Amino acid sequence: MNEKIIAVYFRSLAGALLCAATICASRLSAQIQNVNGNPGKSVMLSDMPACFEQDAGHPFGFDDYTNWSLSADDYYSVRPVGKCTLPFASVADNGVGLTFFRLKSSPAPSTVSFSEDSGFMFLSPSSTLTSTTLSFYPTLGWDSMANIDAEMNSKRIARLCVKGFVHKSIKIGVRLVHETSYNSNDIADNEILSALMPVYLQACIAVSICRLPAKIVSFDLDHDGMLDISNWTTSEMQAIINECDDNSNNCDYMIYIVSNPNCYGVLGIMDFNQRHGFIHGGGGTTIAHELGHGQGLVHTYERNSSPPEKGIDRFNLMNPTYSQNMTKLRFAQWIQLHNNQPNQ
Ligand SMILES: [Zn+2]
Repeated sequence: MNEKIIAVYFRSLAGALLCAATICASRLSAQIQNVNGNPGKSVMLSDMPACFEQDAGHPFGFDDYTNWSLSADDYYSVRPVGKCTLPFASVADNGVGLTFFRLKSSPAPSTVSFSEDSGFMFLSPSSTLTSTTLSFYPTLGWDSMANIDAEMNSKRIARLCVKGFVHKSIKIGVRLVHETSYNSNDIADNEILSALMPVYLQACIAVSICRLPAKIVSFDLDHDGMLDISNWTTSEMQAIINECDDNSNNCDYMIYIVSNPNCYGVLGIMDFNQRHGFIHGGGGTTIAHELGHGQGLVHTYERNSSPPEKGIDRFNLMNPTYSQNMTKLRFAQWIQLHNNQPNQ
């Protein structure tokens, strides 16, 4: 079967891939350890007869997949099947009053109250028999984390860990690049934005794009009718960077849309912590994925030496096998994206 692959490096540069992935993994651990404490260590899954669930009104991140009872290195691990989850939610400082969660339990909770453990927020809950909406206001600043407990008859029935972020903005320069001997296929601005915005809002990052005029570049140095992408970076890729970079619009990252890569099935390529990325197909979703690499994110299976079970977290943005639905970012990814500084 022919799978569409979105790649940083694949087989041709296995050594470089391993090296880069190792650097990324150790950085990830270091960043997670900067988070205040381990929020779930004292919580027993069996204590929780109810669950907080994602509500459509919550525009930021919601992660009921990551297993926080494990060590920091295992934040991408899967929760035990059938267990009630102890989810993370992210909230940006510019999102006060926009935060909703549903509380699901059987039987339905009657009178529910809420408390939190750190003084991070002031809770303003309203509740019904089957769902509960929380809103809250910051009291101790945003770059912090708190556990919210739902209680019924003075007994804790569910817990949610909320991570606050001071919101961050990134600006993406987008340029269509034609070869003198062939044209490339563009991706519309609204398709790019509708893919990027909901993905990165999960990490409390606001994305804007800056469309730059298309350029015709004589980059096909070996005249094979294709862009050579066999390593980072080939002289053909470098020719595009040299001609198409932009220094006048304060772009944090540059995306070049170029058709005909010389590696069949590869939709995009962007090395870790890079300013420049190349997109060959797959639309806005590919751009969102490659910008993940540009901001330091590894593929979901690259955190350790063993491959994942097929299907694990298949809707994660950093799943290397393309699908339209790969939009999820998890807790550890929120943290890493937020801490990443664009290379210039
Ligand atoms: Zn990739």
